[in-house]
Amino acid sequence: MNEQIQGLHHITAIAADAQRNFDFYTKVLGLRLVKKTVNFDDPGTYHFYYGNENGTPGTILTFFPWEGIGQGRPGTGMATDIAYSVPANSLDAWKERLTRFNVSFAEPTVRFGESYLSFTDPDGLSISLVAPVKEDTRAPWVSEDITAAMAIRGFHSTTLSLRSTEATAAVLTDIFGYRLLAKEGNRHRYVTDAVNEAGVIDLLELPDGKPGYNAAGTNHHVAFRVSDDTILMKFRDKVLSKGLQITPKIDRDYFFSLYFREPGGVLFEIATDNPGFTVDEPLDQLGAGLRLPKQYEPMRAEIEKVLPILK
Ligand code: ZN
Repeated sequence: MNEQIQGLHHITAIAADAQRNFDFYTKVLGLRLVKKTVNFDDPGTYHFYYGNENGTPGTILTFFPWEGIGQGRPGTGMATDIAYSVPANSLDAWKERLTRFNVSFAEPTVRFGESYLSFTDPDGLSISLVAPVKEDTRAPWVSEDITAAMAIRGFHSTTLSLRSTEATAAVLTDIFGYRLLAKEGNRHRYVTDAVNEAGVIDLLELPDGKPGYNAAGTNHHVAFRVSDDTILMKFRDKVLSKGLQITPKIDRDYFFSLYFREPGGVLFEIATDNPGFTVDEPLDQLGAGLRLPKQYEPMRAEIEKVLPILK
């Protein structure tokens, strides 16, 4: 059993409109909706999970679409970019596709020898498509108009914006087993050798950066992946031994979680592979129906009345 942190598990962000969010991530970017549930702390709000066919950790971007929530502001103490890996030579096809859907983008830039095509989602969340140096071998979710030649494979990395990177870097290296790969200006790239994919974290040092404000168009937290809840609890001890606060184990139905705020201000989660998204619906039906946690099942009719209907 691999006892290390295995890269990213999921990233959770905030949106202001469920339908618009669903359309963008499934129809423009071509991700699979692998789970449609509610916010466990606020069951009148959806919780969407987008990923690959199997909902593999490291491919999962989740949203709380709070209807009408105000605009957030990306800034320090937050993840400020989500990068997905796509096949080499697919960026031109993506530029065409984004143009067709009226999504404006910046001309690709190169970081650490890899090309980035960056744009924002309808809420202003920053997304990049990266053609990585090393081919990403994960199986994608494909559709009629997004074939395997261009389909998103899953996360490449995320960027954390910080006033100072030192304390956050120590969490990555001393607790999570990452190492500094390289620096380009104020961008410091950390990687883990425990996995081939979704194993990159960029720390962007912005000493005069304004703190972010968490609402629509911003990331709420970044979750790191472990195999199971026995290993999860070992990480709880490690975090505590560094003098940081951390929650008890929380059952999220599809994984078990711990949350802690790293010293740079970013909310970190550690989440397990078990039991996974097929715990309450079969693989070929993932995301098809509204799944509710046990405690809300008796209130299904009321909840369905409140949630916006997806077309
Ligand atoms: Zn989470």
